[in-house]
Amino acid sequence: MTSFEYACSTRIDFGVGAVNRLPENLTSAGFGRRIMLVTDPGLVTAGIAARVTDLLEANGFSVTLFDLVKPNPRDSDCLEGAAKFRSRWCDALVAVGGGSAMDTAKTIALLARHGGTPQQYADGELSYGEVAPVACVPTTAGTGSEVTRSAVITEEKTHRKMTLKHEWLRPQLAVLDPVLTRTVPKTITAATGVDALVHAIEGYTCKRTQPISQAFGAQAMSLIYRALPTAYENPDDIEARSDMLLGSLLAGLCFGSADVASVHCLAEALGGLYDTPHGLANAVFLLPVLKYNASENVALHAQVARHMGVASDSDSPDEAVSQMLLALSEWLQKLDIPPLSELPNVSRSDEARIIELAMANSSTQSNVREMSVESYRAI
Ligand code: NAD
Repeated sequence: MTSFEYACSTRIDFGVGAVNRLPENLTSAGFGRRIMLVTDPGLVTAGIAARVTDLLEANGFSVTLFDLVKPNPRDSDCLEGAAKFRSRWCDALVAVGGGSAMDTAKTIALLARHGGTPQQYADGELSYGEVAPVACVPTTAGTGSEVTRSAVITEEKTHRKMTLKHEWLRPQLAVLDPVLTRTVPKTITAATGVDALVHAIEGYTCKRTQPISQAFGAQAMSLIYRALPTAYENPDDIEARSDMLLGSLLAGLCFGSADVASVHCLAEALGGLYDTPHGLANAVFLLPVLKYNASENVALHAQVARHMGVASDSDSPDEAVSQMLLALSEWLQKLDIPPLSELPNVSRSDEARIIELAMANSSTQSNVREMSVESYRAI
């Protein structure tokens, strides 16, 4: 008999123009008036940070700007953000940006209330408690962090990407406006979109999956597989942008109540070691890991092929899997995803370290097929 648990307490407001309702959403969710806005320099340049600041200030909120977030966000920046949050007497956070800004805001919310370092929470040395309220306004269609209970932070000293995970880290509010994703540069649109597809595939297939995750994952795969090439080719196509933002939200709800798996374990190793953009690191490992997993789990991956719309019920499971691998290879080419060998700085001499980091990642245990040092090396 099936048995599972599911919880997601984040209130979601989705749609074109949703960002304009941020002030009223904050008020009705009981947020205080002294907001720290967490964002990164790219969002400042795109004018999105100023737009949200103006909107908040026009509605009676005071805004302290923290715009130092880097891709693959660092522990040191979270500590600095927490000190600023306390010194300015802020009482809530609004993250405007991709996964990096959202994960930084979640971690600042924790450190500002309870002290300590990100490492101490990731390693279980400190226990969690209620954190400062967080609202997320995602500007990439990728991570789904706006609804997950995790934050991925890089330990600067060791290059380890740590996952802090607790129900307290789940944002209280997510405001998703596809219009905000129109300025995402092409390469980032592609990489973040592939990340979202990987969330759906890994959340759907991993050992910790469950029926609700699979329902979200199935819809996410269908949306993302269709919409991403269009959003990549036509950045102003608001329907494709909307489908991508919805797909990444559903993919976040999918893996957020299950887990990710080996594609992510390898990607996080690359992100920590070389600062490879997270989505790109996922994209280069998607096909080899999928081939490895599908060869032992044909029926499950045939379902994935059908949800992506690249196989029909009349195809045998083996046919469906081969069609999926071929279709995904062409799909990644359309998105101009380079091979691993072309990623900057990645060196074969680091192979053992990459595998060590991937093996140490707890999500390796969730991969649908057993993973070992040898299988990671083969991949
Ligand atoms: P990101 O947040 O690092 O952003 C990438 C770049 O895109 C930045 O330079 C940013 O300025 C730019 N950008 C973002 N939105 C823009 C816009 N609308 N216009 C112009 N430029 C824009 O990228 P990401 O892929 O969204 O996040 C990656 C991070 O999220 C990684 O650290 C990853 O580990 C983490 N992550 C977290 C979760 C989670 O559940 N917490 C899930 C997956 C990934």
